Amino acid sequence: VIPLGEAQARVLEACATNGTVVVGLDDALGRVLADPVTAIDDVPPFANTAMDGFAVHAADLAAADPEHPVRLRVVGTLAAGAAPDVAVGEGEALRIMTGAPFPDGADAVAIVETTRSDGDDVWVSAPVDRGAYIRAAGGDLVAGQEVFAAGTELSAGHLGVLASVGLRSTRVVRPPVVGVLSTGDELVEGDTPLRPGQIRDSNRRALLGLLHGDGFEAIDLGIARDDAGELEVRILDGAERCDAVLTSGGVSMGDFDLVKAVLGRIGEMTWMQVAIRPAKPFAFGTVEGTPVFGLPGNPVSSMVSYELLARPGLRRMAGFAGAELRRASVAAIVDDDSCDPRSDGRVAYLRVKATVEADGRWHVRSAGKQGSHQLLAMARANALAIVPPGEGVRPGGTVQVLVLGT
Ligand code: AMP
Ligand code: MG
Repeated sequence: VIPLGEAQARVLEACATNGTVVVGLDDALGRVLADPVTAIDDVPPFANTAMDGFAVHAADLAAADPEHPVRLRVVGTLAAGAAPDVAVGEGEALRIMTGAPFPDGADAVAIVETTRSDGDDVWVSAPVDRGAYIRAAGGDLVAGQEVFAAGTELSAGHLGVLASVGLRSTRVVRPPVVGVLSTGDELVEGDTPLRPGQIRDSNRRALLGLLHGDGFEAIDLGIARDDAGELEVRILDGAERCDAVLTSGGVSMGDFDLVKAVLGRIGEMTWMQVAIRPAKPFAFGTVEGTPVFGLPGNPVSSMVSYELLARPGLRRMAGFAGAELRRASVAAIVDDDSCDPRSDGRVAYLRVKATVEADGRWHVRSAGKQGSHQLLAMARANALAIVPPGEGVRPGGTVQVLVLGT
C-alpha cells in the first residue's frame, strides 16, 4: 500500500505534455498557451476620455465652484469612434463621449455632471486636476510588451486580452483525447431490461462527464466483457485511437479482475494499492506508449480515482505544470459527524456539500451515504473532505477540502 503522492508521481512520470495546435479564440478557453503573446499595438491605441464630459484646460477652471461657474465656448462634439479635427484653445471646451480620442490642446475632462450647457457655451461648476479622466495610450499594454508567457491557462479574461491585441487564433497545447472503456460481464447499457445479476453501466457516463468538464476530448469506447481476449483488443484499439485510456473495473482482487492481467501482458503496467478510501486499487501503465488508467469499478471509486490520479496526468498532457496539476484544497469547518475518526489507515475522501456561510468561511456537511457503490452522495457533493487516518475531525474542527469544479 503506497501513499497517494507516490501513486501520483508514478502517473506524472509517464504523462508527457502533448504537442501544440493553433485554435480560434472560441476554442481556446481553458487551454494552455504554447507560445508567449506579444502586443503589436498599444492598448488603448490612443489617449481617450474615461467619462462623458468636456475636454478642457484645467487652468481655466481653477476658480470654478457652484456659486461661480466658469463659462467656456464649446467648439464641437466628439463621439467614440470619431477622430478629433479641432484643437481646444484656452477658454474653450470640446464635448466628448467615453472612449472618444482626447483632442490636442486640452489637458483634462470636466465630467458632464459638473456642467450645464447654455447654447454654444457650457458652464462648469467644479475645478479639475490636469490629466483627470484621460486614459493614456498604452495605459494597459505597451506595443512590444510580452502580455502572457507560454504555459498560461487561458481564461475568459485572457481571451479578451488576446482579442484586444488583434489575435483571432493562438497556439495552445493540444488537450488529450481520452477513451473511456467500462469492463464487466454484469454491465448493460441504458434502459435495457435487467436480467438477474445485471446492473447498468454508470461509470462510463460519469467519467465522460468528468473529462468534458475538465476540457479534454472524450471518446466512448463502450463496454468490454470480462474476457482477456476481448479486453486486449479493446484496450489496444483505445490506445491507438487516443492519447490516454480510462478503464473502470477489473483491477481489484477478484477472480475475474482481468484488466490488471491484460495490461501487464500488452503494456508496461504497475498495479498499486493506494492508501485512500475509496479508490484503493489502481492499475496504471502504458500500452504502445499510451497511458492507461485502470480505475476501480465501484462508481464512487472510479470518480475519486479519476480526480486524484487520472486528472493530474491528463492535465500534464494538456500543458499544465506544477501546482496547477492538482486541485488546491481549502480549509473548511466541519458541521456534522461526517469526518469522525476511522481506523483503516487510509486517507478518506468523503463526499461533502461545501458552502460559504454567513461567517465568510467554508463549511462542510455530509452529502449522503458514503459507500463506494453509493453514487448519489457523489452526485450531490461538490467537494471531497480529506480526512487523515485515525484522528478524524470532530464537529467544529477544520478539515481540508477539495472543492470540485474550481
Ligand atoms: P470490479 O472492480 O470490476 O470488481 O467492480 C467493482 C464493483 O463495481 C462491482 O460491484 C461492479 O459491479 C461495479 N461496477 C464495475 N463497473 C461498473 C460500471 N461501469 N458501472 C457501475 N458499476 C460498475
Ligand atoms: Mg468487474
